[in-house]
Amino acid sequence: MRKALVIGNWKMHGLSSRNSELVEQIASGIEDEAFSSVDIGMCPPFVYLQAVATQLAETAIAVGAQNMSQHASGAYTGEVSAEMLVDSGCGLVILGHSERRAIFGEADVDVAAKVQAALQAGLLPVVCVGETLQQRESGEATAVVVNQLEQALSGLSADNIARVVVAYEPVWAIGTGLTASPEQAQEIHKVLRVSLYDLAADTADTVRILYGGSVNAGNAQALFAQPDIDGGLIGGASLKAQEFIAICRAAA
Ligand code: 13P
Repeated sequence: MRKALVIGNWKMHGLSSRNSELVEQIASGIEDEAFSSVDIGMCPPFVYLQAVATQLAETAIAVGAQNMSQHASGAYTGEVSAEMLVDSGCGLVILGHSERRAIFGEADVDVAAKVQAALQAGLLPVVCVGETLQQRESGEATAVVVNQLEQALSGLSADNIARVVVAYEPVWAIGTGLTASPEQAQEIHKVLRVSLYDLAADTADTVRILYGGSVNAGNAQALFAQPDIDGGLIGGASLKAQEFIAICRAAA
């Protein structure tokens, strides 16, 4: 009942010449029929959004940003607003990625403000949550992700919660080659689903919860087969056309 969603997060990788080749290979490698069962998105760095959006204009693949400002406009040197993202051809935006939280000091309150700004601009916010290895080992994984989710979505109406995508990305699995097992991931996805019910009983079932963290062509199918895993947020493997295509197919 929930349509699968696979999003490539390029992080700070790619230059124009390589990007257009990658986009072309992915766009031409995914069969039209696949789009009836999976939505696909690509998130290049800010400076390439418009070029990638132009290249994908005739396709069903969406373009998204990896971050944005919570402010609408003003004296915020170096920042990019939600409206600018829409104007550049974006349909979605990744918010609260663990790298933003850990390296750039983004707090839950910032993530919540960004979610609201994204919704107001008509963007699909992809809200990331995830525990560190230390938090997992001390038995706090569930509490950490539930708290991040509740804070990120605080103050949203049930209708707006239905317009959000959640991504569970255990920090210890990002870029490490250590993937959560399908059972480990499902356990947390189920907890997130229950939290969504608490926040918005009528719409929780429609919210897609993606898994991210060392997803590749070999492990995608088993992860996506779990009842509460509705697709993936893909880092390194989204930079390899054939691998990303295989992951999209696994979700279809
Ligand atoms: P990797 O797939 O490279 O582990 O990255 C996951 C991620 O952070 C996607 O946002």
